[in-house]
Amino acid sequence: LPVLAIVGRPNVGKSALVNRILGRREAVVEDKPGVTRDRVAYKAEWAGRRFTLVDTGGWEPDAAGINAAVAAQAEVAIDLADVVLFVVDSNVGATATDEHVVKLLRRANRPVFLAANKVDDARQEPQSSALWSLGLGEPYPVSALHGRGVADLLDLIMAKMPEVSAVAKQELGGPRRVAILGRPNVGKSSLLNKAAGEERVVVNELAGTTRDPVDEQIELGGKVWTFVDTAGIRKRVHLQQGADFYASLRTSAALEKAEVAVVVLDVTEPISTQDLRIIDLVLESGRALVLAFNKWDLLDDDRRRYLEREIEQDLHHVTWAPRVNISARTGRHLEKLVPALELALESWDTRVPTGKFNAFLAELTASHPHPVRGGKQPRILFGTQAASRPPTFVLFTTGFLDPGYRRYVQRRLREIYGFEGSPIVVNMRVRE
Ligand code: GDP
Repeated sequence: LPVLAIVGRPNVGKSALVNRILGRREAVVEDKPGVTRDRVAYKAEWAGRRFTLVDTGGWEPDAAGINAAVAAQAEVAIDLADVVLFVVDSNVGATATDEHVVKLLRRANRPVFLAANKVDDARQEPQSSALWSLGLGEPYPVSALHGRGVADLLDLIMAKMPEVSAVAKQELGGPRRVAILGRPNVGKSSLLNKAAGEERVVVNELAGTTRDPVDEQIELGGKVWTFVDTAGIRKRVHLQQGADFYASLRTSAALEKAEVAVVVLDVTEPISTQDLRIIDLVLESGRALVLAFNKWDLLDDDRRRYLEREIEQDLHHVTWAPRVNISARTGRHLEKLVPALELALESWDTRVPTGKFNAFLAELTASHPHPVRGGKQPRILFGTQAASRPPTFVLFTTGFLDPGYRRYVQRRLREIYGFEGSPIVVNMRVRE
């Protein structure tokens, strides 16, 4: 989906605006500085068109850190958003920080909209005119709190939103899109450099060859792949505080552009909550997943045994993801990455014909019927695959299925179809 990123200083009302656009109170408004909100990307819809709304303001720095934090927001927005919405507090007017952000945003080859927030009634509108001085064009007066002006602004934004998302474009036959993810120092950039090697196809300079300068086309295994947000891998955001937040913002935004994620883990260190958080972001995004265990050259027998136990304990929910044990330094087993990516994408693309799927369901319910609950036994009447990328199934039932039974259906689906490297979704519709 196309990405709209919201950028602005703390307390200008970004979260309120996110809530207003989503039409629900999901992004919590926090007045305390230093608060990290977990969610950064939301599925949004306006006038029948879907897009991803990225809230870059999840981490609110103290006064000393404002410039760096807002610069980091702008950097992510510039690299990864299709349209940027820059929010200014019209009661305060343009500050030096705002002007700094504008300078950064100017470099972006992206449509930028300027929202003058906190214009709660018509009498305050003249305040917003002062923001012409920022040089971002017309300031749009809005009140995130009351909703005033937001609909009109969204109409204008949607008109600038690309029709075809990066993923949809791929369906037209472009190179497949890969995100390399992982916490700092696991070896992402080493992997990228080693894998690309001499074969790097330098096409970024040519106008129009890639949509984003931060994406790079690289030939691997005889095929061209688009690696998304390679700029994010190569450059480091130098922030004292909030670095984790911006890393996770970048991860979420990169996933939006990718079809498959390679999550890189460092075998010399225990699997951490940060690693698991990144894997969760991939699962949430519904993208295909490959796990790359890197620095294999440094693994001794003791650590190896321990690692196996850790994998069993911490990664039991992603046993379906292909694993490659590699060394970005020596090049060990790097050639296994491409088949793993291909396998994951093939699973992600899979469509099971309705006839076959119902034969599968008939066999499953015959051999293992749903247990009777309170004198009733919910039955599966019919099923169909509603979507691929990832494979998404809908079961029409006569009652709610136990979570345990739903997991059983998922497990059987994997046993029969594999779906290695792809999450699968099983939804339910109860027919009264
Ligand atoms: P990134 O932050 O994830 O991009 O990590 P880097 O690619 O910058 O790597 C972090 C450090 O780990 C660097 O000093 C690399 O040389 C080192 N490194 C990366 N991959 C390997 C590997 O496979 N084996 C060994 N021994 N060192 C590695």
